[in-house]
Amino acid sequence: MQLKSIEIIGFKSFADKTLIHFPGGMTGIVGPNGSGKSNIAESIRWVMGEQSAKNLRGSRMPDVIFSGSADRRSLGMASVTLTLDNSDHFIKTPFDTLKLSRKLFRNGDSSYYLNEKQCRLKDITDLFLDTGIGQGSLSIISQGNVEQIFNSKPEDRRSIIENVAGVYKYKQHKTTAQKE
Ligand code: ATP
Ligand code: MG
Repeated sequence: MQLKSIEIIGFKSFADKTLIHFPGGMTGIVGPNGSGKSNIAESIRWVMGEQSAKNLRGSRMPDVIFSGSADRRSLGMASVTLTLDNSDHFIKTPFDTLKLSRKLFRNGDSSYYLNEKQCRLKDITDLFLDTGIGQGSLSIISQGNVEQIFNSKPEDRRSIIENVAGVYKYKQHKTTAQKE
């Protein structure tokens, strides 16, 4: 499975339609402070179903919609589309290419799409279940998280490592089994 491209319209600082291609291998995004690097990472988290405005550095979800600048009026909608090459079927679906989209209007109306067909949030989150890349996973680490991980207590850091290594869920199964 590979991230192919992301299209961002009206999300945070990206007022104009912006298409970013990921050609394979490792991609670095560089730019001055405040140029929108973290906004790109957040757009990926958002389209994959992030439900917390706070995790996206906002207080309400419509805060992700372009709010205007000195020479530009605000917009009424944010839309992000992520294209994944799934020809290895790492994500358990028959689709070779997956196109996930999320749209949000200022009045709070929001919709999700899977390969251009409207779907539920659950359809998106189910795709990533047990892949280690879904909502709340540690595959996308934000700037603040790095510090949080460094400064966390050793026990908390251990549980982060166990989570990444996939040990955590077996520990949970064990605790549940012991209670039964
Ligand atoms: P740094 O190098 O400091 O981490 P960065 O490249 O990661 O910077 P971001 O945090 O992605 O930068 O972008 C911040 C910019 O996005 C700020 O200028 C902020 O005003 C702008 N921004 C955030 N939300 C919106 C919004 N809803 N509408 C317009 N601009 C926004
Ligand atoms: Mg940043």
